Amino acid sequence: MPNFVDVILPLPLDNRFTYSISNEEAFFLQEGIRVAVPFGKSKIYTGIIAEVHDRDPKVYEAKPISQILDEQPLSTQQQLKFWSWIASYYMCTEGEVMRAALPGAFILESESIVQLKKDAIIDDSELKDDEFLVVEALQNQSSLKIKEVEALLDKKTVLPVLNRLMAKDIVVLSQEIYEQYKPKRVRYIKLHENHESEDAMHALLDELSRAHKQREVVLSYFSLKAKSTKPIKAKELLKISGTTSSVLKSLLKKNIFQEYYINEDRVGFGGEITRNHIQFNEFQEKAFGQIKASFEEKTVCLLHGVTSSGKTEIYFKLIEEVLNKGQQALYLLPEIALTTQLINRLQAYFGDKVLVYHSKYSMNERVEVYQNVLNATDDAKVVIGARSAIFLPFQKLGIIVVDEEHEATFKQYDPAPRYHARDAAIVLANQFKAKTLLGSATPSLESYFNAEHDKYGFAELSRRFGNVMMPEIEIVDIKEKHRKKRMTGHFSDRLLKEIEASLAEGEQVILFQNRRGFSPILECNTCGHSPQCPNCDVSLTYHSHTNQLRCHYCGYHIAMQQRCMACHSDDVSTKGFGTEQIETELKALFPDHKIGRMDQDSTSGKYGYEKIITAFEDLEIDILVGTQMLTKGLDFRNVNLVGVMNADNLLNFPDFRAHERSFQLMLQVSGRAGRTKKRGKVLIQSYNPHHQIIQQVSTNDYTSMYKEQLQERYNYKYPPYYRLVRLSLKSRDFSKTNDAADWIAKAMQNVFKQHVLGPEFPPVARIRNEYYKNIMLKIPQNQSLGKTKAVLNKILVSFNSIGAYRSVRVIVNVDPV
Ligand code: ADP
Ligand code: ZN
Ligand code: ZN
Repeated sequence: MPNFVDVILPLPLDNRFTYSISNEEAFFLQEGIRVAVPFGKSKIYTGIIAEVHDRDPKVYEAKPISQILDEQPLSTQQQLKFWSWIASYYMCTEGEVMRAALPGAFILESESIVQLKKDAIIDDSELKDDEFLVVEALQNQSSLKIKEVEALLDKKTVLPVLNRLMAKDIVVLSQEIYEQYKPKRVRYIKLHENHESEDAMHALLDELSRAHKQREVVLSYFSLKAKSTKPIKAKELLKISGTTSSVLKSLLKKNIFQEYYINEDRVGFGGEITRNHIQFNEFQEKAFGQIKASFEEKTVCLLHGVTSSGKTEIYFKLIEEVLNKGQQALYLLPEIALTTQLINRLQAYFGDKVLVYHSKYSMNERVEVYQNVLNATDDAKVVIGARSAIFLPFQKLGIIVVDEEHEATFKQYDPAPRYHARDAAIVLANQFKAKTLLGSATPSLESYFNAEHDKYGFAELSRRFGNVMMPEIEIVDIKEKHRKKRMTGHFSDRLLKEIEASLAEGEQVILFQNRRGFSPILECNTCGHSPQCPNCDVSLTYHSHTNQLRCHYCGYHIAMQQRCMACHSDDVSTKGFGTEQIETELKALFPDHKIGRMDQDSTSGKYGYEKIITAFEDLEIDILVGTQMLTKGLDFRNVNLVGVMNADNLLNFPDFRAHERSFQLMLQVSGRAGRTKKRGKVLIQSYNPHHQIIQQVSTNDYTSMYKEQLQERYNYKYPPYYRLVRLSLKSRDFSKTNDAADWIAKAMQNVFKQHVLGPEFPPVARIRNEYYKNIMLKIPQNQSLGKTKAVLNKILVSFNSIGAYRSVRVIVNVDPV
């Protein structure tokens, strides 16, 4: 008889934990079921059972579980296997993966909370420093979570401090445990089975001949029943019979009716299928054939298709085939490419089989999608979602489509697990013996490399659908334009002329200004000072909209300054340019046209992004200025001109992928131009018009870009030739960060020699008052990844045992992007 369970807890702890179970529990429990378990001194956590067994842990006495939370497993075996792969590959714990994988509502939180004891007698002189800090904080806010205390004291073990405070009768611990998810339940009514026969029915109506209102309800019930086989909602019945709920109540009481509840699926769309057939053109036919053929031998295929070539239609067809086989399909996209446009298109074809998994959805919505996928045994579905959709409990996955596979946002940056959804998707698909299709107009070097070396299959679409031409790309040398005084603000005369021409035709224009981070900063023309964030090593950026100076890293902000904060000179001006500045200049240049802006600031909130897109689609905006958000998956019919305001700050970004990224971004924005019959036009402004990347963009020459960049990667030992693992250390103490980084780097150099780079400070070396330092490890192809990570883990274990470095956190990022 198994008497133990191993449980994964949603914590950054390396091991599973063993708990004891009774014989009755053993009969019932299985892998994937959630249990509440005691952990540490006084906490209760939700864990997932990973194994039921009879091995006594011996080194510690297994505590009994506190509570069983599910009747059926909430996580599948496949998920548990996948979690363990993610944990080992990305060097994090299964608990961290669990946290990322399950909607928060599934992980009951018993966050211990500390409060000041009512009418506690506090004598400051009797408190140690750290105790005093906690008490002081609790005097200002009514309660603190353990995590907050850890942050406050800047150390990991705060329980001793709290224990002392409890012993002194100053602080109390309070526990809160609650089920956060409440499914929305709908009440349905059915006739009691006693009345179901024809005779009983007549008898019933006779019986009710004096109770008019009740009779009315029963008659309405029969008429609804006759119209449709759908279950009958209580609300609907009341409405049709025009009676009150008290009448229904008495019918229920008499056992004439019975009520029952069904969880309403809030995610369902009830959409109608308006398209049911895809007719490929010859190029799509060929690519589709190539993909299918490659799937005979290989599990992954790369589809390289220029923008608007009809890749999406190919995905649909592949998905359809899988659904017809009774399997599930996953359609992965970067968050920003997951637009209503695409969802609508998918629904027009697959109807209510489409489930959307989106980080902006509420917890309840995500829980429902999760349940839906888990219960998909009879009705296979298409799930469309951003990276975290790989964690859904698929039962019989047939295909994963990864669209825009080159996108860096497929990589989770923070917190752990720092996984790459594209790479993890391939592993997931293999687990199910399913296929993965990667699609992009500008594939990542890694994927193209894999296709070139026959690891992946390959298919290509080099023309736009319906003979729409690729846009014409013109490079504008703004160095020369400046010299010849042909610039108005950030606009060259060429760009202005083209904008005017487009507007005159009644067309819309898109202007691309890369990332918000390059927004203007305030600079003193007398002493050169620019206001800095007090918490981070960056200058504050100017936001004209709110008339503030803000920090993009921590959110710190102050009012715009009219005088220099250092020398009090009033000769201050804003330098650099971002989306806001372009917007301001445009408003002055084109006062009669509507200007819109799309960046992180203008699109916060659930529908912020949609609103701007819709306004642009509805022709309420003539010129849209935006960051890379604009590059993704949008199909605007009325846009023929796209301008790239400045290609150089893309190219000059200090990163080995900067050139590849610039190429991808510029081609993707260009792809927004001229998606209908008329040939689109793209203007790229640059100080370096002869830069090879700009030339390759202008001739749409992916292959040259690929070859050239690959050579650089080879020369400088970067992916795809070498794998990278980046360690980031951080702490509030500058010299501790430094010393700790030296310690780790030295230990690594002993083993990995010249393949260890750094330690070095990142471009922004202080964020929220924490100091950062990075170490990079390069792993040659012939070096075992497993062994390398094992060595690294060993080093980190020794490091963690050094008392002096307790407060230093090490973040490991495998395959950083
Ligand atoms: P991509 O995904 O490569 O950017 P899409 O699949 O969005 O390209 O196709 C571009 C446009 O062409 C879309 O408006 C799409 O509806 C249309 N299209 C593509 N293939 C077909 C087809 N076989 N039949 C009809 N329309 C198609
Ligand atoms: Zn000054
Ligand atoms: Zn800051």
